[in-house]
Amino acid sequence: MNYHAYHSLDVVNGEGTRCTLFVSGCEHKCKGCYNASTWSLMNGHPFTRALEDQIIRDLSDTRIKRQGLSLSGGDPLHPANLTAVLQLVQRVRAECPGKDIWCWTGYKLASLTEQQQHVVQYIDVLIDGKFIEAQKQPNLAWRGSSNQQIHYLSQTERALA
Ligand code: SF4
Repeated sequence: MNYHAYHSLDVVNGEGTRCTLFVSGCEHKCKGCYNASTWSLMNGHPFTRALEDQIIRDLSDTRIKRQGLSLSGGDPLHPANLTAVLQLVQRVRAECPGKDIWCWTGYKLASLTEQQQHVVQYIDVLIDGKFIEAQKQPNLAWRGSSNQQIHYLSQTERALA
């Protein structure tokens, strides 16, 4: 997997202070996409074990507490990204107790493949659906267009929503 950018401190992609990874690769090609340079799987930089370790360290930092990890892109659920993303979310679950994981995808929750569902079982909050320019609403929380939905998948996040 390649990634486009990593922000170790982020307060705009999800609730609280977070670490955010923008992966490369998206097959949805939405008109008006805010991040078209992430569409190609080849763009960006290789996602290495060293960066994976860095994310785990940042999430575990006790001086600047992060609420969790946000995965965006590009599309973290692009079929070519699933192996690397699965490994990352499994590590976050195992090594960073109490941290939540948010994920943005152009796929719809109801139409995910088995492999994608396998990754999503580790996700607390999933924002799904393509960006549809005709339904763009700048004041929506965490979404660009009104067709996109926020799914609070874990019990903790459901309680907070
Ligand atoms: S799903 Fe997101 S990254 Fe992919 S084309 Fe649509 S808006 Fe852009």
